[in-house]
Amino acid sequence: MKVDDEAVAGLIRRAGRIAVLTGAGISTAAGIPDFRGPRGLYVTRQYDPEKTFDIDYFDRDPSYFFAFARDFVQLVEQVQPTLTHRFLAMLEERGKLDAVITQNIDGLHQKAGSKRVIEVHGSVRNGHCRKCRRAYAYEELKAKVLSQEIARCDSCSGIVKPDIVFFGEAVQGMAEASRVAGQTDLFFVIGSSLTVHPAASLPEYAGGQVVVVNQGLVESASPEWLRIDEPADPFFARIAAKLGM
Ligand SMILES: [Zn+2]
Repeated sequence: MKVDDEAVAGLIRRAGRIAVLTGAGISTAAGIPDFRGPRGLYVTRQYDPEKTFDIDYFDRDPSYFFAFARDFVQLVEQVQPTLTHRFLAMLEERGKLDAVITQNIDGLHQKAGSKRVIEVHGSVRNGHCRKCRRAYAYEELKAKVLSQEIARCDSCSGIVKPDIVFFGEAVQGMAEASRVAGQTDLFFVIGSSLTVHPAASLPEYAGGQVVVVNQGLVESASPEWLRIDEPADPFFARIAAKLGM
Protein backbone atom coordinates (compact mmCIF):
# COMPACT_ATOMS: atom_id res chain seq x y z
CA MET A 1 0.00 0.00 0.00
CA LYS A 2 1.29 3.49 -0.91
CA VAL A 3 1.31 6.10 1.80
CA ASP A 4 2.02 9.81 2.23
CA ASP A 5 4.28 11.50 4.77
CA GLU A 6 1.45 12.96 6.85
CA ALA A 7 -0.06 9.51 7.37
CA VAL A 8 3.25 8.15 8.74
CA ALA A 9 3.81 11.24 10.92
CA GLY A 10 0.28 10.72 12.28
CA LEU A 11 1.01 7.07 13.08
CA ILE A 12 4.10 8.13 15.05
CA ARG A 13 2.17 10.84 16.93
CA ARG A 14 -0.57 8.40 17.92
CA ALA A 15 1.64 5.40 18.67
CA GLY A 16 2.27 4.44 22.27
CA ARG A 17 5.06 1.99 21.60
CA ILE A 18 7.28 1.87 18.55
CA ALA A 19 10.11 -0.49 17.62
CA VAL A 20 12.27 -0.71 14.51
CA LEU A 21 14.26 -3.33 12.64
CA THR A 22 17.18 -1.87 10.73
CA GLY A 23 19.38 -3.40 8.03
CA ALA A 24 22.33 -2.41 5.87
CA GLY A 25 20.32 0.26 4.01
CA ILE A 26 20.34 2.58 7.03
CA SER A 27 24.15 2.59 7.15
CA THR A 28 25.05 2.78 3.46
CA ALA A 29 24.46 6.56 3.56
CA ALA A 30 27.09 6.72 6.33
CA GLY A 31 29.59 4.93 4.07
CA ILE A 32 29.30 1.38 5.43
CA PRO A 33 29.00 -0.96 2.44
CA ASP A 34 26.21 -3.52 2.27
CA PHE A 35 27.96 -6.87 2.75
CA ARG A 36 25.54 -8.64 0.49
CA GLY A 37 24.92 -5.90 -2.04
CA PRO A 38 26.66 -5.64 -5.40
CA ARG A 39 29.17 -3.10 -4.09
CA GLY A 40 29.75 -4.94 -0.83
CA LEU A 41 33.02 -4.77 1.02
CA TYR A 42 33.91 -8.31 0.11
CA VAL A 43 33.67 -7.49 -3.59
CA THR A 44 35.51 -4.17 -3.56
CA ARG A 45 38.18 -5.39 -1.17
CA GLN A 46 38.23 -9.03 -2.27
CA TYR A 47 36.85 -10.49 0.94
CA ASP A 48 34.84 -13.60 0.29
CA PRO A 49 31.94 -13.58 2.82
CA GLU A 50 31.79 -17.38 2.77
CA LYS A 51 35.33 -17.41 4.18
CA THR A 52 35.21 -14.21 6.23
CA PHE A 53 32.21 -15.21 8.35
CA ASP A 54 32.63 -19.00 8.36
CA ILE A 55 33.42 -20.27 11.85
CA ASP A 56 35.22 -23.44 10.66
CA TYR A 57 37.37 -21.42 8.28
CA PHE A 58 38.04 -18.97 11.12
CA ASP A 59 39.35 -21.79 13.32
CA ARG A 60 41.60 -23.04 10.49
CA ASP A 61 42.91 -19.67 9.28
CA PRO A 62 41.84 -16.70 11.43
CA SER A 63 44.20 -14.29 9.59
CA TYR A 64 41.70 -14.03 6.72
CA PHE A 65 38.97 -12.74 9.03
CA PHE A 66 41.35 -10.39 10.88
CA ALA A 67 42.43 -8.73 7.62
CA PHE A 68 38.75 -7.89 7.06
CA ALA A 69 38.28 -6.90 10.73
CA ARG A 70 41.20 -4.40 10.55
CA ASP A 71 39.62 -2.68 7.54
CA PHE A 72 36.16 -2.76 9.07
CA VAL A 73 37.20 -1.34 12.45
CA GLN A 74 39.08 1.49 10.72
CA LEU A 75 35.99 2.23 8.64
CA VAL A 76 33.63 2.15 11.64
CA GLU A 77 35.94 4.55 13.51
CA GLN A 78 35.69 7.09 10.70
CA VAL A 79 31.98 7.06 9.87
CA GLN A 80 29.25 9.06 11.57
CA PRO A 81 25.63 8.03 12.19
CA THR A 82 23.09 9.11 9.58
CA LEU A 83 20.09 11.39 10.05
CA THR A 84 17.92 8.28 10.46
CA HIS A 85 20.17 6.84 13.21
CA ARG A 86 19.90 10.18 15.04
CA PHE A 87 16.12 10.41 14.47
CA LEU A 88 15.65 6.98 16.10
CA ALA A 89 17.81 7.98 19.10
CA MET A 90 15.62 11.09 19.54
CA LEU A 91 12.40 9.05 19.36
CA GLU A 92 13.74 6.83 22.15
CA GLU A 93 14.73 9.86 24.22
CA ARG A 94 11.15 11.16 23.89
CA GLY A 95 9.84 7.86 25.23
CA LYS A 96 8.27 6.85 21.92
CA LEU A 97 10.66 4.13 20.82
CA ASP A 98 11.04 0.93 22.87
CA ALA A 99 14.05 -0.55 21.08
CA VAL A 100 16.12 -0.72 17.94
CA ILE A 101 16.58 -4.24 16.60
CA THR A 102 19.40 -4.27 14.07
CA GLN A 103 21.00 -6.69 11.64
CA ASN A 104 24.01 -4.36 11.39
CA ILE A 105 27.31 -4.93 13.19
CA ASP A 106 28.65 -1.37 12.88
CA GLY A 107 27.54 0.06 16.25
CA LEU A 108 26.18 3.25 14.61
CA HIS A 109 22.93 3.18 16.61
CA GLN A 110 24.87 3.42 19.88
CA LYS A 111 27.12 6.10 18.37
CA ALA A 112 23.94 8.09 17.58
CA GLY A 113 22.79 7.79 21.20
CA SER A 114 20.34 4.85 21.10
CA LYS A 115 20.30 3.06 24.46
CA ARG A 116 18.34 -0.15 23.88
CA VAL A 117 19.83 -1.84 20.81
CA ILE A 118 19.29 -5.55 20.11
CA GLU A 119 22.06 -6.65 17.73
CA VAL A 120 20.81 -9.94 16.28
CA HIS A 121 23.99 -10.40 14.20
CA GLY A 122 26.28 -9.26 17.02
CA SER A 123 28.76 -6.41 16.65
CA VAL A 124 32.42 -5.45 16.49
CA ARG A 125 32.12 -3.58 19.79
CA ASN A 126 32.80 -6.61 22.00
CA GLY A 127 34.79 -9.80 21.75
CA HIS A 128 35.56 -13.05 23.56
CA CYS A 129 38.52 -15.40 23.78
CA ARG A 130 37.61 -18.63 21.98
CA LYS A 131 39.54 -20.63 24.59
CA CYS A 132 38.94 -19.15 28.07
CA ARG A 133 35.89 -16.95 27.17
CA ARG A 134 37.50 -13.83 28.66
CA ALA A 135 35.46 -10.81 27.51
CA TYR A 136 37.04 -7.84 25.77
CA ALA A 137 35.41 -4.42 25.56
CA TYR A 138 35.70 -2.30 22.43
CA GLU A 139 38.83 -0.24 23.16
CA GLU A 140 40.88 -3.31 24.11
CA LEU A 141 39.48 -5.33 21.24
CA LYS A 142 40.13 -2.53 18.76
CA ALA A 143 43.76 -2.19 19.88
CA LYS A 144 44.30 -5.92 19.37
CA VAL A 145 42.59 -6.05 15.98
CA LEU A 146 44.59 -3.07 14.70
CA SER A 147 48.00 -4.03 16.10
CA GLN A 148 48.10 -7.85 15.97
CA GLU A 149 47.86 -10.03 12.88
CA ILE A 150 45.61 -12.32 14.91
CA ALA A 151 44.03 -10.90 18.08
CA ARG A 152 45.33 -12.92 21.07
CA CYS A 153 44.03 -13.26 24.62
CA ASP A 154 46.12 -11.67 27.42
CA SER A 155 45.26 -14.55 29.78
CA CYS A 156 45.75 -17.67 27.67
CA SER A 157 46.96 -16.60 24.18
CA GLY A 158 43.76 -18.02 22.71
CA ILE A 159 42.22 -16.23 19.75
CA VAL A 160 39.93 -13.31 20.56
CA LYS A 161 36.94 -13.23 18.22
CA PRO A 162 34.73 -10.17 17.88
CA ASP A 163 31.12 -11.04 18.79
CA ILE A 164 29.89 -10.95 15.19
CA VAL A 165 27.46 -13.77 14.41
CA PHE A 166 29.11 -15.97 11.79
CA PHE A 167 27.36 -18.29 9.35
CA GLY A 168 26.38 -21.39 11.27
CA GLU A 169 26.24 -19.52 14.60
CA ALA A 170 22.98 -18.76 16.40
CA VAL A 171 21.62 -15.23 16.06
CA GLN A 172 21.40 -13.25 19.31
CA GLY A 173 18.44 -11.79 21.17
CA MET A 174 15.70 -13.17 18.91
CA ALA A 175 13.44 -14.03 21.87
CA GLU A 176 13.78 -10.48 23.21
CA ALA A 177 13.38 -9.00 19.71
CA SER A 178 10.17 -10.89 18.96
CA ARG A 179 8.79 -9.97 22.40
CA VAL A 180 9.55 -6.28 21.76
CA ALA A 181 7.95 -6.47 18.30
CA GLY A 182 4.82 -8.07 19.74
CA GLN A 183 4.35 -5.28 22.31
CA THR A 184 4.41 -2.43 19.80
CA ASP A 185 1.57 -0.70 18.02
CA LEU A 186 3.89 0.60 15.26
CA PHE A 187 6.83 -1.31 13.78
CA PHE A 188 9.26 0.11 11.22
CA VAL A 189 11.52 -1.91 8.96
CA ILE A 190 14.28 0.42 7.75
CA GLY A 191 16.88 -0.35 5.09
CA SER A 192 16.28 -4.09 5.00
CA SER A 193 14.99 -6.17 2.10
CA LEU A 194 14.04 -8.86 4.68
CA THR A 195 16.08 -11.58 2.99
CA VAL A 196 18.17 -12.73 5.97
CA HIS A 197 16.34 -15.02 8.37
CA PRO A 198 15.37 -15.34 11.15
CA ALA A 199 15.44 -11.53 11.62
CA ALA A 200 13.36 -11.15 8.45
CA SER A 201 10.41 -12.82 10.17
CA LEU A 202 10.24 -10.19 12.96
CA PRO A 203 7.58 -7.98 11.29
CA GLU A 204 5.23 -10.97 11.53
CA TYR A 205 5.37 -10.61 15.33
CA ALA A 206 4.49 -6.91 15.23
CA GLY A 207 1.43 -6.07 17.30
CA GLY A 208 0.32 -3.13 15.15
CA GLN A 209 0.93 -1.43 11.82
CA VAL A 210 4.14 -2.32 9.94
CA VAL A 211 5.83 0.38 7.85
CA VAL A 212 8.69 -0.63 5.53
CA VAL A 213 11.13 2.08 4.44
CA ASN A 214 13.50 0.51 1.94
CA GLN A 215 14.65 1.38 -1.55
CA GLY A 216 14.05 -1.61 -3.78
CA LEU A 217 12.32 -4.95 -3.47
CA VAL A 218 11.24 -6.35 -0.11
CA GLU A 219 10.79 -10.10 0.20
CA SER A 220 7.45 -11.57 1.18
CA ALA A 221 5.97 -8.17 2.08
CA SER A 222 2.42 -8.37 3.34
CA PRO A 223 -0.19 -6.28 1.45
CA GLU A 224 -1.18 -4.78 4.82
CA TRP A 225 2.22 -3.19 5.36
CA LEU A 226 2.75 0.43 4.42
CA ARG A 227 5.58 0.67 1.94
CA ILE A 228 7.99 3.57 1.34
CA ASP A 229 10.28 2.81 -1.60
CA GLU A 230 13.09 5.30 -1.08
CA PRO A 231 16.28 5.71 0.98
CA ALA A 232 15.71 6.31 4.70
CA ASP A 233 17.40 9.71 5.17
CA PRO A 234 15.30 11.93 2.86
CA PHE A 235 12.12 10.23 4.08
CA PHE A 236 12.86 10.62 7.81
CA ALA A 237 14.12 14.18 7.27
CA ARG A 238 10.59 15.07 6.08
CA ILE A 239 8.95 13.08 8.90
CA ALA A 240 11.18 14.73 11.53
CA ALA A 241 10.21 18.15 10.17
CA LYS A 242 6.50 17.25 10.40
CA LEU A 243 7.02 16.13 14.02
CA GLY A 244 8.89 19.32 14.86
CA MET A 245 12.12 17.45 15.63
ZN1 LIG B 1 41.82 -16.61 26.79
